[in-house]
Amino acid sequence: MWRAGTPDAADVRRMRSARERLDVNPLVIHGNYLANLASIDPDIRAKSIRSFRGELDRAATIGAEYLVLHPGNHKDQPLQQGIAAFVLGLAEAADGFVPQGVTVLLENTAGSLHQIGSKFEELRMIRDLAARETSLPLGYCLDTCHLLVAGFNVATSDGLRRTVEDADRLLGLDLVKVIHSNDSKGALGSHLDRHENIGKGYIGEEAFGRILTHPGLRDKAFILETPVEDDAVARADIGALKRLSC
Ligand SMILES: [Zn+2]
Repeated sequence: MWRAGTPDAADVRRMRSARERLDVNPLVIHGNYLANLASIDPDIRAKSIRSFRGELDRAATIGAEYLVLHPGNHKDQPLQQGIAAFVLGLAEAADGFVPQGVTVLLENTAGSLHQIGSKFEELRMIRDLAARETSLPLGYCLDTCHLLVAGFNVATSDGLRRTVEDADRLLGLDLVKVIHSNDSKGALGSHLDRHENIGKGYIGEEAFGRILTHPGLRDKAFILETPVEDDAVARADIGALKRLSC
């Protein structure tokens, strides 16, 4: 939803101590899914910029290291114009913001209709252009489901090797801070953004083992965004990642 509250100071303190106790590091939060900083519709654009500024402020307030953001949708305009609109929206939202340790991570997308950011070149272009408009620190988050359906074959060892090489060449692996580790209901290149539980989709357990232990990736923060019907399903996914990372 568009509306969001301000975090309560006592809640923030409780969360900080829970983080310490449970060793949650880094803390990664996700921008809301309605915001589209690439939009040229004046109403959506204004709401998106206001909403994203709220996300930045909350990230700083709660002490989050990373705020994950989708690069938006270039409906009704060419791709390059959408990228420019996104960058200007990002800069406007961040105007006067003091990062306090917050880095925004651009997430790769499934590349369904008009979605920006399914290609590494687009993510890189956003970061390069944004560097001229804002001092907001920017990195990347890679989603394994989105990679597969966008045409990066992370399900095979050869495909994973090429994907990591491309990511290093075009993005810089040191700027990839977070991996959204989701299996995929959609096949390679299908552009279908439907997450699946680990080992149940087109990526499969064996491939997750390779992803988790890849020398270029193993120090990244891995986060699950798989479908969760109940605690048992969530525990099974966490258990699978732990087992496969050894
Ligand atoms: Zn994701």
